[in-house]
Amino acid sequence: MNTENVFKKIIAFIGKDTKAKNESKKTIVVIRNIIISILVYFSINAVIGNVVKDVRSTIFYIVFFAVFAGIFACSYHFRTITTLWMFNVGMLAFVFAILNFFGWNVGVQHFLIVMLLLYFFSGYKRYKQKFAYAAAICALRIILFYIYQERTPILPLTSSIIETLQIVNTITIFWCISLIAYIFSRDGQELEGKLVQYNEQLEKQANTDKLTGLYNRRKAWEYLECMARDRSEDSGFSLCICDIDFFKKVNDTYGHDMGDEVLKKAAGIFEEEMTGKNFVARWGGEEFLLLFPGCNGDDAYVKLEHIRRKIKDMRVKKDDIEIGITMTFGLAEHDYSEKVDDTIKEADRKLYQGKEQGRDKIVY
Ligand code: GH3
Ligand code: MG
Ligand code: MG
Repeated sequence: MNTENVFKKIIAFIGKDTKAKNESKKTIVVIRNIIISILVYFSINAVIGNVVKDVRSTIFYIVFFAVFAGIFACSYHFRTITTLWMFNVGMLAFVFAILNFFGWNVGVQHFLIVMLLLYFFSGYKRYKQKFAYAAAICALRIILFYIYQERTPILPLTSSIIETLQIVNTITIFWCISLIAYIFSRDGQELEGKLVQYNEQLEKQANTDKLTGLYNRRKAWEYLECMARDRSEDSGFSLCICDIDFFKKVNDTYGHDMGDEVLKKAAGIFEEEMTGKNFVARWGGEEFLLLFPGCNGDDAYVKLEHIRRKIKDMRVKKDDIEIGITMTFGLAEHDYSEKVDDTIKEADRKLYQGKEQGRDKIVY
């Protein structure tokens, strides 16, 4: 087995999910990583104790190594909250023991911050308890300061050993804090990114007509309201409502699927032609709304005439049957002097005039 495989197996082992359902896997993984870091820290400290030839110090770290290794093993069998509390109790015992043995100056009291962070980031939504815990840890830190700052330790160390332990403790504590912050912030940011993406997807779905892929009526209204509010085009815009002629007949004669095919093909032409600032949406069943921002009625008429011809020339094929359709267009200008609703009504009126006058035409 090569090193890469061993490494992968170790990662998989540390990343193993909790036994209990509905528990955050992330929390247990963070706790395990912190325990591993602390086991490394105990080993280094045991070696430092050996260097100064103090067996008591070495034994002390070996005992705590065994305790935390036991907690690590328990993380695979108990609930996360149980492991977390075992970790906290173990850590408190360690802090007290070190303060008694080596005194205040080795800086072990900062492990309380690791305990605090771990509890805060753990997936339990008990905020009152979390703040109570924070207050307790803070009070404990102050009490420990008054008890141990001046007290002579059981095992007084030389200043060089105190310095070494202070540095090892600082590095370990900063490492643990960074690890907790890294794992939880990374996932938080990832989640945020996913939410933004999901929101965009939802918005797109809410604004799009499924069959044709064009914008739907909802989006069209939003766009119209936005144009009327911002008056982004000083000269106003032209608005057209168009409708497929005798569409019911297409459905009745060739089936609903053929009707759908006609809608899709017509939508394709609108999309091809309504480029730039122009806007198109499926307004209803076989009705479309076209907007020409900054375009007067005459210019819009020319563009619509081109579209009308293209629709008329379009062939729709399905199961060896080929048909053609025509459309009727009602065109109105909007210059902000009236309500957009009234412009829509005017375009609608013109569309029905077109229908009455024989269809396949633009009424302006
Ligand atoms: P006119 O020329 O006066 O507009 O006649 P028309 O037959 O087109 O008008 P009508 O409003 O009577 O018919 C519209 C039809 O459009 C009725 C409805 O079944 C059909 N329709 C609406 N939405 C869809 C759709 O998504 N797919 C299909 N295949 N048909 C649809
Ligand atoms: Mg129709
Ligand atoms: Mg209609």
